[in-house]
Amino acid sequence: MKTMTTLSTLLGRSKERSAYTLGRKAWLTLGYLSLMSLPFLATLTLNMEPQGLYATTLTVINTLAMMAFYMQFPLASRLKRIPLFANIDWNISHHKKVGQWLGVIFLLHPLLILAPRFMVSFNDGMHSLISVITAPQMLTGLIAWVCLMIWILTAIFKDALKMRYETWRFSHMLGFVIITILATLHITTVGSHGQFQASFNIIWWALCAASVTMVLYNYFIKPLSLRSQPFKLLDVTQVSRTDWQVTIEKQEASDFTFAAGQFVWLNTSQHSGGVKEHPFSIASCQADLPKISFIIRNLGDYTSKLNTLKVGQNVYVDGPYGSIGLAESAQAKAIVLIAGGAGIGPMLSLLRGLAQQNDPRPIRLIYGNNHLNQMVLQDEIKHLEKTMPNFKQQLVCATATDDDAIYQGVIDTHCLEQTLNALAPRDWTVYLCGPKPMINAVNKSLKSLNIPASHIHYEQLSF
Ligand SMILES: Cc1cc2nc3c(=O)[nH]c(=O)nc-3n(C[C@H](O)[C@H](O)[C@H](O)COP(=O)(O)OP(=O)(O)OC[C@H]3O[C@@H](n4cnc5c(N)ncnc54)[C@H](O)[C@@H]3O)c2cc1C
Repeated sequence: MKTMTTLSTLLGRSKERSAYTLGRKAWLTLGYLSLMSLPFLATLTLNMEPQGLYATTLTVINTLAMMAFYMQFPLASRLKRIPLFANIDWNISHHKKVGQWLGVIFLLHPLLILAPRFMVSFNDGMHSLISVITAPQMLTGLIAWVCLMIWILTAIFKDALKMRYETWRFSHMLGFVIITILATLHITTVGSHGQFQASFNIIWWALCAASVTMVLYNYFIKPLSLRSQPFKLLDVTQVSRTDWQVTIEKQEASDFTFAAGQFVWLNTSQHSGGVKEHPFSIASCQADLPKISFIIRNLGDYTSKLNTLKVGQNVYVDGPYGSIGLAESAQAKAIVLIAGGAGIGPMLSLLRGLAQQNDPRPIRLIYGNNHLNQMVLQDEIKHLEKTMPNFKQQLVCATATDDDAIYQGVIDTHCLEQTLNALAPRDWTVYLCGPKPMINAVNKSLKSLNIPASHIHYEQLSF
């Protein structure tokens, strides 16, 4: 979930408002940058030979880039107990952005080192280039550099490559563990713009060890604890032409709890580890525990076979994650839930949570799909409209229907204006969930209606 919030919600899920005004993203960025600068600050304590301006600049860039590289591991791990790395959505989006920047920096790395030689003469530059490529001690750096470029490109173009997500994820993880070890060998042996003194190499190796440990934790240690408290599959029901409702139950001894709007990684395979897990938002509310339900759209090789799961089988649940929740709307005078397709899951969870609390504020659900027969759980939602006079649903359908009450088209500015006209925009808290293009379009419409960004909390159904 991407959202603006206060320090109190960053550090916990407190409902209390904090006096701090710095947004969550700003705190996370500040924390991230502070951590990233630590190895560089450590170099200031060293007695180093003075270097020229160019070499010093390269050293600073390389030291910061190497630390950013190691910090890709906590960003991609699910370290929900460490506040700085607990916001999975922020982590993954920054993991991707930082990864692309690192690709550019490391692509230029050999060129920037050799540039002064090329400035002297082209021949001198070429001579240095050939000796760098052929020197045996450069092999670790060279392999790490080539692999890094290939792995970053594979991550950027993974959708176009049509590779199975699980295959990509496994090769991404294994590839980067190997690249990290090779890069650390390079920086601690021949690297001249990141290696300072033998004792300083301990820092690089400690960071490398911490990175590999995080991978081992995620793939080997955490699965053991998930295995000790499996959930049971209760039911898989088709609730629309394209969607399933999957219900699982936690064990009595399990202390699993969640807040409306959060998501988990579900693993229905025989093993609690590996890459066969998928993120899904919880659609039920806390009052439904020990049962937890999900609305899952049939979108690919895993989600199309959910009906082959066996009732009573074990399901491993890693979570909950995600920082959206009803706490964000504590001060709001009206609550707007906007769901596109499979995005209905977390919106239902919030709606069920609000109904459970008998929340008296105006609540609107705007729910869009391509076809009418994709709208899920309409009996329950229509029943809520009857029992909660402050709640109304607006269905939005891309294809034409006979029903005049259904907005035909997509969730656009006109649809929002028409549905929410009696509410003052500045008082709304808007929750939004759906595919990325829908999130982008609705966010633009909400902006054009002058809804402050801090009042919009959204989750897109892909990382
Ligand atoms: C935070 C979050 C919450 C989500 N909540 C829901 C929900 O409530 N209901 C719902 O129907 N869908 C939800 N999704 C999307 C759901 O995870 C994917 O549709 C599902 O994993 C697709 O799996 P597949 O093998 O059937 O499809 P595939 O064809 O293999 O994958 C389709 C796309 O889904 C994504 N994906 C596939 N496997 C994974 C994985 N293991 N981890 C992360 N992404 C993956 C990739 O972007 C891939 O390109 C959510 C996604 C995220 C990130």
